[in-house]
Amino acid sequence: MSRETKFIFVTGGVMSSLGKGISSASIGALLEARGLRISFLKLDPYLNVDPGTMNPLQHGEVYVTEDGAETDLDLGHYERFTRARLRSRNNLTAGRVYEQVLQKERDGRYLGATVQVIPHVTDGIKEHIRSIGDDTDLVIVEVGGTVGDIESLPFLEAIRQLRADLGREQVLYIHIGLVPYLSSAGEVKTKPMQHSVKELRSIGISPDIILCRTDRFLERSVKAKIALFCDVPEEAVITVRDVSSIYELPQLLNKEGIDDAIAERLNIWTGRPDLSRWEEITATIQDPGHSVRIAMVGKYVELTESYKSLNEALVHGGIAHDTRVEVSYVDSEKLEGSACESLSGVDGILVPHGFGPRGAEGKIHAIRFAREKRIPFFGICYGMQCAVIEIARHLSGLQGANSTEIDPEAPDRVIDFLPDQRERAETGGTMRLGAYPCRLSAGSLAARTYQKDEVSERHRHRYEFNLGYRETLEQAGLVLSGVSPDGCLVEIIELPGHPWFLGCQFHPEFKSTPFAPHPLFRGFVGAALAQASD
Ligand code: GLN
Repeated sequence: MSRETKFIFVTGGVMSSLGKGISSASIGALLEARGLRISFLKLDPYLNVDPGTMNPLQHGEVYVTEDGAETDLDLGHYERFTRARLRSRNNLTAGRVYEQVLQKERDGRYLGATVQVIPHVTDGIKEHIRSIGDDTDLVIVEVGGTVGDIESLPFLEAIRQLRADLGREQVLYIHIGLVPYLSSAGEVKTKPMQHSVKELRSIGISPDIILCRTDRFLERSVKAKIALFCDVPEEAVITVRDVSSIYELPQLLNKEGIDDAIAERLNIWTGRPDLSRWEEITATIQDPGHSVRIAMVGKYVELTESYKSLNEALVHGGIAHDTRVEVSYVDSEKLEGSACESLSGVDGILVPHGFGPRGAEGKIHAIRFAREKRIPFFGICYGMQCAVIEIARHLSGLQGANSTEIDPEAPDRVIDFLPDQRERAETGGTMRLGAYPCRLSAGSLAARTYQKDEVSERHRHRYEFNLGYRETLEQAGLVLSGVSPDGCLVEIIELPGHPWFLGCQFHPEFKSTPFAPHPLFRGFVGAALAQASD
């Protein structure tokens, strides 16, 4: 941390799911547009050491960083909204802090002292927060959970102490809470927000800026009331109205004056932000010239929250073509044995990542439909693995082709563990995680789409293409257009002669942003658009 690094702490109150992550990302975008170098830290109060093993239904998507950390999905928002590139240390869970403190205790490094939440756990948190500040002007630290949760207390105590440690001009607190409209009373209610701020103040933190999550703009009188009760100036009461696209939020917050309020309070001297590129993308999103329909085939219940980055990458692919991407979620279990009627009329079919055998046959069915009906197909991770199975079964005649994950006894396991992985698999810890290089074959769809001959993409999977079947599958027409530099890992497959049929073993969605749509999503949406206008 440099001496000048400033910290903004974002806490949430009243209830969860108020968009704290996207608000933090938007604040980052505004400060970056003012010329500051920023970074982020997400503090998660739960006791899991990382979110990798958490149920996606409870926790949402697991976001993977370049260095292979399985992190909270808010890191995805931060990377999509700003230029900050995040690593494992940009997400800290209470579980990890306790793990470190307990290890230190076992190593005898506390010299026999009684090890306590204050100061040992809080010191661990503070040390980590301060370590994020290297090479940045400002760090935005989002505290997960809701003020009042027992688990959040050590984090809140640590950030409270930091203002005294670092000085008043170095630290700013933002609190976001709900200001609901009550139709029976015909007015918005400020009481929940007042209570939440009171709770925060009772642990010693007085917020400098209040973000009011609402479904409408707040009148001056309402803002004045919140200002009075929460002890902030009126200009520091900011409305975060519901938006139709998350990418409108930086402009909305700017109009509400948030970056001015931050700059003034932290004594930052910068010009007004240039938001023209945000204006351009939101104009495209709001009023696109075209639209396409993409079917996303997966386990229904997981389809929305657990595919956050994927949904965003499709939006980005659309921006590149002035196109709205309408996604219909198709439950793969319902496709098993059916005639794929729910897929007719779509312009593209996407089979995303997934785990476990449930619904796999439906995905394979959908891929066959896309191949035979010549509908653009994009398979990501598990989606690519299912495409390999489909091609092995129906083009190579290997009727028993499968993945070890789906059927460990299958006669032809075209997707399998690597030989040395099998032993490690029994003890866990076999995921291939993070960025790996991939070489593209000249002239392939992949190389034409990327316009490059080598790329690096992020991974999160256990099984791999089984190279023992390489020749058989190539004879059937499959092209392995992306492989690891040593040739041992297959990263991209495609089928020439089809309008657009590509599967990748990695997760391209983690590297897509609205300003730089990922080439594969741009290519896929482009192919879907060509299909739509046929
Ligand atoms: N379940 C598959 C594997 O572990 C695919 C994982 C994924 O789609 N991310 O290899």
